[in-house]
Amino acid sequence: MSAATPETIVVKIGSSLLVGEDGKPRREWLKTLVEDIAKRHQAGDNIIIVSSGSIALGARKLGLGKGGRASLADAQAAASIGQIALSSLWSELLGEHQIAAAQMLLTLGDMEGRKRYLNAAATLEKLLEHRAIPVINENDSVATDEIRFGDNDRLAARVGQAATADRVLLLSDIDGLYDRRPDSETKGQFIGTVDIVDENILEMADSSSSSGLGSGGMTSKLEAAKIANLAGIELSIISGQEDHPLERYALTNVGTLFKAGEGINARKAWLSGLTTSAGTITVDAGAVEALQSGSSLLAAGIVTINGQFERSDVVEVKDMDGQTIARGLAEYDALDCTKIIGCRSSEMEALLGYAPRSAVIHRNQMVLV
Ligand code: GLU
Repeated sequence: MSAATPETIVVKIGSSLLVGEDGKPRREWLKTLVEDIAKRHQAGDNIIIVSSGSIALGARKLGLGKGGRASLADAQAAASIGQIALSSLWSELLGEHQIAAAQMLLTLGDMEGRKRYLNAAATLEKLLEHRAIPVINENDSVATDEIRFGDNDRLAARVGQAATADRVLLLSDIDGLYDRRPDSETKGQFIGTVDIVDENILEMADSSSSSGLGSGGMTSKLEAAKIANLAGIELSIISGQEDHPLERYALTNVGTLFKAGEGINARKAWLSGLTTSAGTITVDAGAVEALQSGSSLLAAGIVTINGQFERSDVVEVKDMDGQTIARGLAEYDALDCTKIIGCRSSEMEALLGYAPRSAVIHRNQMVLV
């Protein structure tokens, strides 16, 4: 990963690396990581840190069981207490290298609403321009089960996408992906490079790689790899067990590298990383075929509309079996969409009372999933 031209690198650190079994930060190890980060920063790279650990740190201070994850209320309270400690730790350790740490606490909504996403992207850009190091975590004290990432692996990939990063490094308590659990009877085969995260690769995921302190196992890492791939970003899972993990990786290259896809334009990259939508449009078989060959969605192929979406909201397109086939920005609100179900363009103006748009979802505003 040593590069001549400066890169933007997202480094994600899991809870079990940051917090020891005694519930305290692993300061000595963290110092070696910060030395690696400072070196790269000094060499001109832009670094963004995605740091877990707030819940684990807060749990100790509050004396909560199950690492603070026994209930949502526990996790939220623990995160409030732990986050303040976590931020000051990063600020102190980066400060020793004369680097300003900049805290950003993000929610799923900040990454899924287009305006808020662009806003977060602009803040990141500004911070990097000032040579600060953003230290990002999910805003766990307000995130609820339904509206949270829950794991910082996917958050790191989304942040990478927002910052148009070159690479995402997921520091983990495992050195990469194995085709089977490494500690099972037949030792797993290590996978050094992955071109594309397909069913085969997904089957290798085994949440046993999670230490119990954090919430991300191999499944969330593979989900993160998919997001990164679509956004044209390389992602690596590397071990954070030893001191100086970044330097070690640069020297040894030991880890699993998920290659970057060709990259799609920024709006499509954003759309493909979404997990929520404001409504559903169900379409007939003819429309499915048309979409899959790259056409826009026309009213003629719509069968039903669900949800109260507004114009420009994200909607899912499903086939008649309920399978999601695409996601895109609606050109009409739900009410007008309902009026034109099954209609041809020539009939639409009279029904709507205004000149119709060329499509219900334009192909440039849509991704196939
Ligand atoms: N945001 C959580 C925390 O800081 C960690 C999520 C994860 O384990 O990936 O504690």
